Amino acid sequence: MNEELIRDRTLAIQETVDRAAARSGRSGSDVVVLPVTKGHPPGVLVAVAAAGFGAIGENRVTEAEAKLAEIGRRGLRWRMVGHLQRNKARRAIDVFDAIESVDSLRLARRLHSEAEKADRASVSILAQVNAGGEAQKNGLDPAETVDAVGAMLDLGRVRVEGLMTMAPFTSDETVLRRTFRVARECLARCQAELTGFDGHTLSMGMSNDFEFAVEEGSTEVRLGTVLLGERPEV
Ligand SMILES: *Cc1c(COP(=O)(O)O)cnc(C)c1O
Repeated sequence: MNEELIRDRTLAIQETVDRAAARSGRSGSDVVVLPVTKGHPPGVLVAVAAAGFGAIGENRVTEAEAKLAEIGRRGLRWRMVGHLQRNKARRAIDVFDAIESVDSLRLARRLHSEAEKADRASVSILAQVNAGGEAQKNGLDPAETVDAVGAMLDLGRVRVEGLMTMAPFTSDETVLRRTFRVARECLARCQAELTGFDGHTLSMGMSNDFEFAVEEGSTEVRLGTVLLGERPEV
């Protein structure tokens, strides 16, 4: 995976994003592409940075720590996109600039207290919503999202940038769109009902569904396979 191939794929992806954004009355520049580098060797992060990206997504603390030790930050913002166990909260805030996968109020509280102990002013987070309502998926129940995000706002050291969701693994357009709409409505309700909430990031859309996600209001698509190819690791 080299810089040139990443640039070529980025152009094609950006065209798809632009068209999908236009169909929803927006501009492609309203949507950020977050390369998800999990499962790829450190050299891929170097190539991603060289191709002009400002951030990457990783889904495991241990894997991210190893990559960071090998290549350094590379001017990238490191964003965690995978489930985070509370006992790894401290290590996560040492590695990551933001945690997109805050799937419970308990985890947000833990991040707050670890930030306090680490004397870090704040940790940027997205609240993860289980917008598809799947039993096996992590995330806040849509019905409890406004209350949970409201409680997160009261924690002084977490900064809620917005919401994140993962759609069910399906190619069923109806299911995907419904899921993305639920997440968008949750964000709209947070914005309308919570004073002091200024989050506007809606992280949704992966390789197989990002076109629908953008049409339904995504402001950040998290792309692995379509941008970087199949993950070589196990
Ligand atoms: C792996 C992963 C992605 C990217 O997946 P692709 O299907 O390869 O684009 C996005 N978001 C999360 C949370 C992931 O774990």
